[in-house]
Amino acid sequence: MWDNRLGMSGKFFVRSFGCQMNAYDSARMADALGGRARAAASAEEAEIVLFNTCSVREKAQEKVFSELGRARELKERRGGNLIIGVGGCVASQEGEAILERAPFVDIVFGPQTLHRLPEMIERRRQSGEAQVDVSFPEIEKFDKLPPPSFSPPSAFVSAMEGCSKYCSFCVVPYTRGEEVSRPLAGVLEEMAHHAANGAREIVLLGQNVNAYRAEAEGGVVDFAALLECAACIEGVERLRFTTSHPAEFGARLIDAFAKIPKLADHVHLPVQSGSDRVLAAMKRGYTVLEYKSIIRRLRRARPGIAVSSDFIVGFPGESEKDFAQTLALVGEIGFDFSYSFLYSPRPGTPAARLPDDTPLEEKKRRLALLQEKLEQGGRTISEEMVGKTETVLAEGRAKKGRGFLRGRASNNRAVNFRGEDSLIGEMARVRIAEATAHALRGELLRAQ
Ligand code: SF4
Repeated sequence: MWDNRLGMSGKFFVRSFGCQMNAYDSARMADALGGRARAAASAEEAEIVLFNTCSVREKAQEKVFSELGRARELKERRGGNLIIGVGGCVASQEGEAILERAPFVDIVFGPQTLHRLPEMIERRRQSGEAQVDVSFPEIEKFDKLPPPSFSPPSAFVSAMEGCSKYCSFCVVPYTRGEEVSRPLAGVLEEMAHHAANGAREIVLLGQNVNAYRAEAEGGVVDFAALLECAACIEGVERLRFTTSHPAEFGARLIDAFAKIPKLADHVHLPVQSGSDRVLAAMKRGYTVLEYKSIIRRLRRARPGIAVSSDFIVGFPGESEKDFAQTLALVGEIGFDFSYSFLYSPRPGTPAARLPDDTPLEEKKRRLALLQEKLEQGGRTISEEMVGKTETVLAEGRAKKGRGFLRGRASNNRAVNFRGEDSLIGEMARVRIAEATAHALRGELLRAQ
């Protein structure tokens, strides 16, 4: 039975899956509810439990349904007094079908309708009916959301949403809709808000963030122009962005790395494969030569910049020769630590219909080889940093606890060092003393 007394005054808990865009959306869900409810430390303490899902990887999708099972048990123990909401890409893709598989779910909302959560919860409370809204009302979300309630030292700001690239393996265009850029003023205002509240670094987000295009003052502002404006915001000391698409990485953006010192020494630029044949089948819209040309010009604009990437191994039809070309590209570019995954067909995508006769064992062998090579590349970069002095943004306490801090160098490498909490949120000069598996250990020289 639905308890009509349950309202918006209680606590909520948001469980987030997947990428940085999802982490950003989870924070914005909390902002949307924050006026009338408080964040709980765990689902057990909450009256509203929201799942912000990701369907890019099959594993993340299945994990949602197993965690939903646990939420159902919690709801049953409470005699029905728990609102369960499912948002994000799985919600967007499945819509009403979520309710068929999990009839105990109360609310299904998409990435573009998360700002409507308070009304949906209220309608659920009043009507007793489950609420589903996975529409794409474009940019309305940003007009309706309150300013972020929390500004960490490194704060995310969404510049654009959705994707119009339709890579043959990917669900994002179907779950998040076509590319839509936020108006320039809104993006800059949110950045300034974070900077005024203590953020030192801003990470601009978007599925294809460098496809950003917005109309302003009678002209069109591209991503390079957005970065130039962002660098002028008082208090912003470092800028990052993710994820970018090679087909949108033009000369103006490359020049920005020469002109804007606040841009970090790191770019994440997914290549996916080192074979033109596979890239064409993926419908990525660039060749290996074009990708290499971007990196060459980028390194000329910003010597020493770290480049990381995403790779898909075992795409349908990937031959031994195609895979060898991927390994060769990794050696040639000298990628930093990168993400690599086995291809898994996503329902409804064109690639899911392609014949695929490579045995799973062979795909796993290739993935292991690639990961070993990527690890080697990452380790080499880490080892080369030993003895150098880096500017590290102290983001919080390290796992070791009080007296130890964690932060990131400009090239995005995690650095742990001794330091007091008063340094959190500050840029510190740190001498790198040791390279460990995926982080560096440093010694504080001074705060900047
Ligand atoms: S660029 Fe391709 S992989 Fe990236 S979100 Fe768009 S469709 Fe997906």
